[in-house]
Amino acid sequence: MAVLEDPLRLVIGDKAAKRLDSALGLQTVGDLLHHYPRRYDKRGELTELASLRDGEHVTVQAEIAAVTVRRMRNRPGTILEATVTDGRGRLTLTFFGRGRQDWREKVLRPGLHGLFSGQVSTFKGKRQLAHPEYELLGSGDGAARAEQYAAELIPVYPAGSQITSWQIADSVRIALDTLDVTGDPLPAGVRGRHGLCGYADALRGIHRPVDLGDVRRATLRLKWDEAFVLQVVLAQRRLAATAYSATPRPALPGGLLAEFDAALPFELTIGQQLAGATIADELALDHPMHRLLQGEVGSGKTVIAVRAMLQVVDAAGQAALLAPTEVLAQQHYRSISQLLGPLAAAGQLGGAEHATRVAILTGSQGAAARRKHLLEAASGAAGIIIGTHALLEERVQFADLGLVVIDEQHRFGVEQRDALRDKAGDGRPHVLVMTATPIPRTVAMTVFGDLEISTLTELPAGRSPIATHVVPVADKPWYLDRAWERIREEVANGRQAYIVCPRIGDEVPGDAPGDGGSPPGRGGSPASDDGGEDGGDDLGQGPDDGEQRRPPLAVIDLAAGLAAGPLAGLRLAVLHGRLPSEEKDRVMLSFAAGSVDVLVTTTVVEVGVDVPNATAMVIMDAERFGVSQLHQLRGRVGRGSHEGLCLLVTEVPEGGKARERLDAVAATLDGFKLSRLDLEQRREGDVLGAAQAGRKSSLKLLTLLADEDLIGSARDEATALVDADPALAGQPALAAAIRSLLDEERAEFLEKA
Ligand code: ADP
Ligand code: MG
Repeated sequence: MAVLEDPLRLVIGDKAAKRLDSALGLQTVGDLLHHYPRRYDKRGELTELASLRDGEHVTVQAEIAAVTVRRMRNRPGTILEATVTDGRGRLTLTFFGRGRQDWREKVLRPGLHGLFSGQVSTFKGKRQLAHPEYELLGSGDGAARAEQYAAELIPVYPAGSQITSWQIADSVRIALDTLDVTGDPLPAGVRGRHGLCGYADALRGIHRPVDLGDVRRATLRLKWDEAFVLQVVLAQRRLAATAYSATPRPALPGGLLAEFDAALPFELTIGQQLAGATIADELALDHPMHRLLQGEVGSGKTVIAVRAMLQVVDAAGQAALLAPTEVLAQQHYRSISQLLGPLAAAGQLGGAEHATRVAILTGSQGAAARRKHLLEAASGAAGIIIGTHALLEERVQFADLGLVVIDEQHRFGVEQRDALRDKAGDGRPHVLVMTATPIPRTVAMTVFGDLEISTLTELPAGRSPIATHVVPVADKPWYLDRAWERIREEVANGRQAYIVCPRIGDEVPGDAPGDGGSPPGRGGSPASDDGGEDGGDDLGQGPDDGEQRRPPLAVIDLAAGLAAGPLAGLRLAVLHGRLPSEEKDRVMLSFAAGSVDVLVTTTVVEVGVDVPNATAMVIMDAERFGVSQLHQLRGRVGRGSHEGLCLLVTEVPEGGKARERLDAVAATLDGFKLSRLDLEQRREGDVLGAAQAGRKSSLKLLTLLADEDLIGSARDEATALVDADPALAGQPALAAAIRSLLDEERAEFLEKA
């Protein structure tokens, strides 16, 4: 009898085991049995041939219609062509042979059904599989097969050029026949409450179902395994986190926070008050807060973060604010210093009595400023330290780091969180993460599963709506002139505008695009703090439209063209990540002050930038950006009391996928809806992101978007179980499943490093 941990070699022999390992990386019986069928073919029900696509590796069930053999013209040997059909479409199987291929002609008899496996290509207008593997059904080749073919459903496995679906099926059959399942990773109570079948039944049901009911039951149960094991890991991490100690930072009356609140020019929304109260309570505890604050663009996350930071400073700690771009870091630095006024002028003339200081650290600031701010952070003179990923460098030290705020998380991974956390010395700092993109609850529970979540759903009152339109310049080039006219109108009314391009345009010829500073964690150069601005999001660059496309529009070229043409006479400025630090700062300041009318920029303004008088945005080559990215960009306008306008300029034709995405952005302002759409178009692995290595391969059946209820229930069950039995002493099979998940995560992490 075999168990799941056994190496495959012991069960199916050396040769088959080697093949499974090299083709699919499957090593143990468990690996193989968790390699699930992609679909099930009904016996006798032929695969629809019209659905095949070039380049795909397919396994089709079809009927042989005709076979011909002819000599090759220029070489010795023959070509055997078998035409197979699903009753409507046809597919040619091509076999090249040195000899006459009589034997093959005898086997491939018209009228027989078979499984054919190979890569689809088109030759002279005909779909074909060159040299496919095949297995004829009901041809009686071997009694062992008889049982398999008696079954109603034929599992079709993800296969490849080195291994066929039926070779996998053969190995699975042997493994299942010798399998001895001991224990069940899902506790009996969980199975009972949710009507789930046992583990052994599930493995048999998914590989050798009698009917589709079997498949359904097995799939549900195995999805639960994936969700539950992961949620148990996360529950254990949350529990472990409560064991760390942190310095309590309770709110003190009469401090900086109270002064800040008194000076606040608006009322907090109910959502802001609730989230703020939760955070204030958690900061007062003696174990670290780990909270995710998510909310719609413009919902006012920053003010919550600032209030939390002030509470910590009042309680004699320091707070670090990590921003994804230098532009945003500078903005936070300016607006927080300004809001605090004399409260942030400790040691200076006019500074208030219990004042603190605000420091800033970015990658491209000058050496003198840098030294000054490093010192203020290390000595404790600065209570608030704002920065880009430069904050993560080893040289940066804090006197008493009590709170880490990570703004617009999508640019930072778990590693960055940990790097900052490690700077707190004894005990751990409280951590507040804010997301740029609202994400569906289940994704949040999985990606940020070790964090508690607060969500802001409303926007502050008095916001004006943003009208978004697609400008299809390929069909209607004159629309672009109209767009520039609209910008002139906005400026004439005293407002300002952004024009966003996917590229900077200062590349040295031959320089690879995209090396202008990737965000931290994506392996880019640290020279710029403003990540990922070149090329936009490559979601829009499908394989079909890659080659003949012109390069994306560039800020520098477009700005020159506009200044000389349609926007002549307006005050234009250029902003991008490769400008020197002071220059970026100067440009943003003049734009915020209203002395620049139009900012021609890259995505450095994507997140966080807040200039309420800017009301219009034109996004060039809009199809190059992802859905969530467009939504974020658009969030830069309509922040004041005047209506916002966003124009998505594109050359892609109507009807395609790229155009659909733009239409979707134009159709709704609901960021949660759009992020769902965005996620649906990515593979699950990308949803989880690189920081979640092992999770990619551990989620095979579960889909984060579709299985929301299941994940929610699994999380509740997991939390209850871990509370009752933290070490899982009563659940040996579950503990083993978790060990193997963590091993996998570690292995993938090491591979990455
Ligand atoms: P985001 O959540 O996208 O980071 P911000 O924190 O940048 O949003 O807030 C957007 C704008 O709304 C800022 O100008 C901020 O000052 C303003 N704001 C925040 N909260 C309120 C409120 N309760 N009432 C009015 N304006 C607010
Ligand atoms: Mg923000």
